[in-house]
Amino acid sequence: MHSPWEYPDFDDHEIVHFSTDAETGLKLIIAVHSTHLGPGAGGVRFWHYGEAGDALRDALRLSRGMSYKNAMAGLPMGGAKAVILADPERTKTPELFAAYGRAVQGLGGAYVTAEDVGITVADLVEVAKQTEFVSGLPAGQGEVGGDPGPHTSYGVFLGVKAAVRHALGKDSLSGLHIAIQGAGSVAGGLARRAAEEGARISLADIDRGRAEALAGEVGATVVDPAEIMTLEADVLSPNALGAILTEASIAALRVPLVAGGANNQLATPDDGQRIHQRGILYAPDYVINAGGIINVAMEYLKSGDQQSVKRSVEQIPVRLEQIWAESEATGRNPADVADAMAQRLIGRA
Ligand code: NAD
Repeated sequence: MHSPWEYPDFDDHEIVHFSTDAETGLKLIIAVHSTHLGPGAGGVRFWHYGEAGDALRDALRLSRGMSYKNAMAGLPMGGAKAVILADPERTKTPELFAAYGRAVQGLGGAYVTAEDVGITVADLVEVAKQTEFVSGLPAGQGEVGGDPGPHTSYGVFLGVKAAVRHALGKDSLSGLHIAIQGAGSVAGGLARRAAEEGARISLADIDRGRAEALAGEVGATVVDPAEIMTLEADVLSPNALGAILTEASIAALRVPLVAGGANNQLATPDDGQRIHQRGILYAPDYVINAGGIINVAMEYLKSGDQQSVKRSVEQIPVRLEQIWAESEATGRNPADVADAMAQRLIGRA
């Protein structure tokens, strides 16, 4: 039995809140990693976990990731994440989200919630009936808010272009071959922009219909999900699951750079070093995929309009260039450089 303070993935989190609500069946973990830069912001995941320990691990790891992501995006927000342990059928009720909203309110603003896996804008509307500490709500015409996906994919597109400029010395994606893993919200936005610029795209999704629909729209080639990571291409852009960069998959890569929006791409910290040693340029995931949280934060803070969200997302390539420059100057790999920068920003160097 671990002491709570020695629990794997516990990283001096400021708050780890566990609660249950017998009436609605809510089982909840909220992890606030750091409020050094502001209220802890991060989505709530609604997932059925086989082991409750996996839910805690997710909350601890993802909340630290949000601290790093928000700091590197220049947001006045700390990092946090919530996990609702769903039943096997992932049954949602308004009462469950009301109880969740009351729990968020009870933390008095240390945590600001938003969408993550399994959560829709409609669910957050229920949550917002109970708490003011919520973002990612429906936006009126011209207002900041709504689905963060398009902002994430815009940032990923800009990050891919920055990586291409840095590694290949090219200002355009025209004529380049881009391998995209995933055909969902983030991948779709990237594929459309890249195709518009004249890139040749190969893409894969375990949902074949989804892959074919996107490929038909942008003139891409669908490849088998098992093949996308080993395709010979100018860019690999992972936009599906995490932990896809492993010792084995890194050894099999046939691309000069990896830049995509999926969270937690490196299976272990060693994999950041492995990809670097292979001479492959890596765009740290939580830096390149910050477009969505930028939109969520600016909605919450009421600190700008759609133009200022866009300008802020357009800083992502600048941040990536800083990381790659420091990596080249010090010989440290970009993932380590990004972590160190983020730790400095949140006062944990
Ligand atoms: P999504 O659910 O719209 O799309 C994900 C797609 O990946 C799905 O179509 C799914 O079938 C596919 N997929 C799953 N496993 C796969 C595999 N092994 N091979 C190929 N395809 C596979 O999700 P999204 O919003 O586009 O998010 C994609 C990634 O980006 C996730 O890792 C997410 O955490 C991350 N991300 C998203 C946002 C956002 O604003 N949506 C923000 C930051 C990070």
